Amino acid sequence: MTEANLTELRAGLLACRQMSRTGRSTEGLIEAQRLLVVARKLGDPGLTAACLTNIGWFCLQLGYADEGLASASEAKALYFETDNHDGQAFATAVYSWLLVELGLSDLGFTEADAAVQMARHTALPALLSFVLGCKGMALMMCRQDQLAYPLLEEALALAEKGNDPSTTAMTLVNMGFSVVSQAEFAEAAGHVEDGLRLRRKAMMFNDRAIDTARACGDLWNLRIALCNGAELAQGLGYREMARAFLDEWDSLPGTVGPRSRIHYLYTRGELLTAWGQLDEALAVCKEAVRLAANGANLDHRVNTLRRLSDVEAALGNHQGALEHYRAFHEAFVYQMGESTRRRAQVTEMQLENERLRLRADRLEEEASKDALTGIFNRRAFESHFERIQGEVFSFAILDIDHFKSVNDRFSHMTGDAVLQRLAGVLGAWGEPVSAYRLGGEEFALIVAGRGQVEAMPIMEAIRVALEQTLWSDLAPGLAITVSIGLVDSVQFAGRSVISEADRRLYAAKTQGRNRVVGGFDTEPVSLRA
Ligand code: GH3
Ligand code: MG
Ligand code: MG
Repeated sequence: MTEANLTELRAGLLACRQMSRTGRSTEGLIEAQRLLVVARKLGDPGLTAACLTNIGWFCLQLGYADEGLASASEAKALYFETDNHDGQAFATAVYSWLLVELGLSDLGFTEADAAVQMARHTALPALLSFVLGCKGMALMMCRQDQLAYPLLEEALALAEKGNDPSTTAMTLVNMGFSVVSQAEFAEAAGHVEDGLRLRRKAMMFNDRAIDTARACGDLWNLRIALCNGAELAQGLGYREMARAFLDEWDSLPGTVGPRSRIHYLYTRGELLTAWGQLDEALAVCKEAVRLAANGANLDHRVNTLRRLSDVEAALGNHQGALEHYRAFHEAFVYQMGESTRRRAQVTEMQLENERLRLRADRLEEEASKDALTGIFNRRAFESHFERIQGEVFSFAILDIDHFKSVNDRFSHMTGDAVLQRLAGVLGAWGEPVSAYRLGGEEFALIVAGRGQVEAMPIMEAIRVALEQTLWSDLAPGLAITVSIGLVDSVQFAGRSVISEADRRLYAAKTQGRNRVVGGFDTEPVSLRA
């Protein structure tokens, strides 16, 4: 049942990945949410985190950045419980991009930078490419194009090396965007020729993005590249090309989220205004404003209102232009306050995740410790024992001699104090010995990396140390000795290691107690008889 669920979950996640690379974001989101329910039921943190990361990514593609941020944040926290560094890096990168979407570019940069650190040693060039792309994007949003560009170049080389056309297309889109920023910068400084040259260069990157996205069927990146291409073409005076790009956008199949739709509408609105088709431009801009008003992306809200105001001014509707200009200005001011509120919200979310993680760590810690003695308990032993299967180790069971009579002669409280002191000695022994209380006055010892021959003197030292420990301060006349049964994983395998140690412990008891019995000084077969 569980095995079947796991297989289905893994297959589902692969399918989600494919949907995200082909722009089927709505279907992907629904599927990822369904898989999340299964993953949570199975209680697998890694797979749950993978579902949440997918949800974050689809929310980003669709334009539900607020919802996406919560999922990506939880994914990040969950991944830290696992050793999956690639997963951590990917979730952190998606999280960083969502922060950028919400206007928190500087926080986005910090997260993207952390993601790059995590992904530096990955074996997946496409992953490192994606993560570098996120960092480059955050830098662009912080107006650091000079720093962004080399990162994007590295990202492009890696995406191509990793044979990942979807990430290649995304990176090419970003490179085009980055070069347009450089062009604007040059033009603002009065370097018209440089500006033109850079716009042509941007166009070249964007054309490659369009070709790559078209070829691999990545409709999400294709839509972005077509809008950017239309704007670029118009800027360079290629009106027919601009129109063709927008027409291609219109002809693409499938449903799109508000993010893509708004981008398209305000690009079309701007071009229609430039072409003098003002009535159509007005309708398109109004639609964009309406959509953006419901979304979380404040940039969209500000951009669409500004364009609507421009169209109305061009139409001679000065009343409307002024009204929308005011709304634009209000949205702009609101954007400032809103980013403060979001910043607080993100900090709060991070704190909450940190608290949950600490609580989980504490519960985990508590669940693995014995309440009376504070050393590892049987549960911890079982998981440690499971983990070292296949490795060389020695294993011993240690049992206090005549412990019942300690309780009887002195008191149960004295017995408890003996257990605590003895556990203290075992717990403090250190490398390569780890100690566990199995229950009652029985302890397990694992000697990592040593066979019985090497472990025997260690056991002997422990036996002597316990015999020579001061006990009489707990009760006058109190003396304690222990018996130990020792085996190693070379002679015995699996759980037979434990039963054999138990047999040898019994042998130590019958041979007179206060001794260690290993494989050489006993005949287990005859003793069993
Ligand atoms: P042997 O040398 O054969 O091991 O004899 P023994 O008396 O140590 O063995 P036995 O199994 O007969 O008795 C174990 C005793 O340990 C019985 C039980 O009351 C006591 N015991 C188990 N857990 C605790 C504990 O947490 N505290 C105290 N004080 N006594 C405990
Ligand atoms: Mg005993
Ligand atoms: Mg016992």
